[in-house]
Amino acid sequence: MGFKADIITLFPDLFPGPLGASIIGRGLDKGLWSLTATGLRDFATSKHKDVDDTPSGGGPGMVLRPDILGRAIDAISPQNDPRPRLLMSPRGKPFTQKKAHQLASGPGLVLICGRFEGVDQRIIEARNLTEISVGDYVLAGGEVAAMTILEAIVRLIPGVLGSSASSHEESHENSLLEYPQYTRPQNFEGLEVPPVLTSGDHKKIKQWRQAQSEAITAKIRPDLLSKKTD
Ligand code: SAH
Repeated sequence: MGFKADIITLFPDLFPGPLGASIIGRGLDKGLWSLTATGLRDFATSKHKDVDDTPSGGGPGMVLRPDILGRAIDAISPQNDPRPRLLMSPRGKPFTQKKAHQLASGPGLVLICGRFEGVDQRIIEARNLTEISVGDYVLAGGEVAAMTILEAIVRLIPGVLGSSASSHEESHENSLLEYPQYTRPQNFEGLEVPPVLTSGDHKKIKQWRQAQSEAITAKIRPDLLSKKTD
């Protein structure tokens, strides 16, 4: 079975895109998760396959029609589908690493990508969509947001990252940013790898990394430290 992702989009050809590369793509090939992108235009009925119309009350841009979105959602995610239905939206609750963990342990997701001015409000209520945002800025469409959310989730699915890699000490796990990483060469343009890291003293290395994490977080994202007990 595994984690099943469905995307509803005006641009299904954009998928899997980056989700087909590297470890995330290998997980897809191995069947650890699955992805289907469905084109919204397939559900349009007019001669010109219109999916949008002008905003009620006036104003710029176009709005995606609820009837067409409704048909697409019903075809892909029937009423008894246990998967959350997420609408990509700058108005949504911010997506976080914590949310990624929650969703990675579930059956999958239905991700709906907006375009233009967004979607008719009634489809959000009628199909129980949860609005979710990837940050406080405005994208041109929901596709890159959907990819972002899926990529963060899929790497947490058991087996995807593999045994050599691990995620437990990374940024945003424990509400701390990651300590600085180094590799060879020992000397790069006169800059040395911190000697503690080549000392072989694992206890000291651990302490150094913890102190670095705390200092970097305090400097760059002090807001995260107050969330530490979440
Ligand atoms: N008029 C809307 C913005 C529309 S942007 C507003 O002011 O709220 C077009 C589409 O891009 C949205 O429907 C949404 O699906 C997607 N999008 C834009 N910014 C996003 C963000 N920060 N997070 C998630 N999706 C976003």
